[in-house]
Amino acid sequence: WKHAPRDFRALLETSRFHGDKVFLIYEDEHLTYEEHFRRAATLARRLVDEYGVGKGDRVAIAMRNYPEWVIAFSATLAIGAIAVPLNAWWTPQELEYGLSDSGAKVLIADGERAAGLTGLTGFTALTGSGPALIVTRGEAPEGARSLEDVIGEVEAGVTLPPVELSPEDPATIFYTSGTTGRPKGALGSHRNLGQSPMTVAYGLYRTLIRAGREPGETAGQRRVTLLTVPLFHVTGCFAVMTTTMFSGGGLVLMYRWDPGRALELIERERITGLTGVPTNVWQLLSHPDLNRYDISSLSGLGYGGAPAPPKLLERITEQLPGRAPSNGYGMTETTALAIGNTGADYLAKPDSIGLPMAVVEVRITDPIGGELPVGTVGELCLRGPNVILGYWNRPEATAETFVGGWLHTGDLARVDEEGFVFIVDRAKDMVIRGGENVYCAEVEAALFEHPAVEDAAVIGIPHDELGEEVGAVLRLSSPATDEELRAFLRERIAPFKVPVRFWVRETELPRNPGGKILKTRLRQEVLGPS
Ligand code: ATP
Ligand code: MG
Repeated sequence: WKHAPRDFRALLETSRFHGDKVFLIYEDEHLTYEEHFRRAATLARRLVDEYGVGKGDRVAIAMRNYPEWVIAFSATLAIGAIAVPLNAWWTPQELEYGLSDSGAKVLIADGERAAGLTGLTGFTALTGSGPALIVTRGEAPEGARSLEDVIGEVEAGVTLPPVELSPEDPATIFYTSGTTGRPKGALGSHRNLGQSPMTVAYGLYRTLIRAGREPGETAGQRRVTLLTVPLFHVTGCFAVMTTTMFSGGGLVLMYRWDPGRALELIERERITGLTGVPTNVWQLLSHPDLNRYDISSLSGLGYGGAPAPPKLLERITEQLPGRAPSNGYGMTETTALAIGNTGADYLAKPDSIGLPMAVVEVRITDPIGGELPVGTVGELCLRGPNVILGYWNRPEATAETFVGGWLHTGDLARVDEEGFVFIVDRAKDMVIRGGENVYCAEVEAALFEHPAVEDAAVIGIPHDELGEEVGAVLRLSSPATDEELRAFLRERIAPFKVPVRFWVRETELPRNPGGKILKTRLRQEVLGPS
């Protein structure tokens, strides 16, 4: 890791050596590494010269997964400014919150986001008191400019504008998914993102080594990855995009995740790997057209960011034999991948998130921070060069979460004798029934074993005497009665953990783009406003 790119400029400049190889593929558009570099470097110069963006200034990006997202990101980091990727699913009000929270000087948005924001009364970018607005893939409103106009002429000999960078300089503010509260801005450094491609490569090497092969022997086929998740979360940006940029592979972008379209793209672009959230792979496997496409090029299936039911691994082994599935655990606060399970290890321990990546140290602690012995459930704490600097503008949350160099993840976990980590649940996703802890994740895993269960979310139901009771919201692929389900569960988990109530939904469970079930919303839907 001494040889990891020391900052984003080093990564971007290295990527230029990939020259005429195709980097970004979107619909019928193909952008080579050289073209990407030239556009990013030209935009970098314009941001400095025409918008006065300097080191440490924030540049927000609010877009779907367009090639321009990557260009805007590269340009911003290359001049030492801080990129603030905003969630493209946010409402205009939420986007405005991201802009004011980060104090963005410039906003680069797609037409849809710009139109939404322009509809807000007093949108600061257009009243002159907020960021300057640059728009791509759509109309630039009065007072804004189009990205194409800002970039203008792109010269072959363009170089990056000079700037002094140190690995500790802040580079990005990614907002957390907001699963447990309001999204927090995670302030990541150049060192954080520089180690990320190496960490992912280490994970891939480990897969090969565990299969009795040598990493060097796999040359031959060009790596083309399908990005199934948004670039505005760390999985998409770091585990996939910058890692691809470093390795010289191709990256196929989609406007929105669609399993049928993904199958088409795998065949058309000869995609070799897919990295996303467990839901993506689950939906691909359930798609009626799975066997109609030639997806023989696909060799790697990576997923993470949300719990992956062991049944997913079973289905992959059955339906797509010979592929290398891997489960990665990571957080916005760990710059994506931190712990991973692959190959033979994953088959042997399908309910584990695996071993820490080479840069990461793991510790399980009790509520006052004391280290717990092997096998005991406690809070998962992590340390390493991938752990971010802290939260933007949130000194209390930072002090609570980053203690003595250790990141307190808020996840409950245990480690076995071989060092494998098992996530038990989120500390905040537990039902406490009469003082007894019920881990939602455990009940969900048991439910997933039932052949009729397509999707499951376990929630707490307020109860006068017990405090909470266990309930479950389900999607079923074939009918099953509550009694059948309960009998099935009683053979697998303790009686007090068996849901007293089931709700069956006809439609998909609501999830955020990170693949996590929106339990607060589900709870309101089935129980009414609390
Ligand atoms: P917020 O912090 O705003 O409440 P969030 O924690 O969902 O939202 P992210 O940083 O996107 O935001 O997600 C990190 C969390 O996702 C982890 O703390 C963990 O609970 C969960 N997670 C990530 N990868 C895995 C995995 N492979 N298996 C199980 N859970 C995972
Ligand atoms: Mg979190």
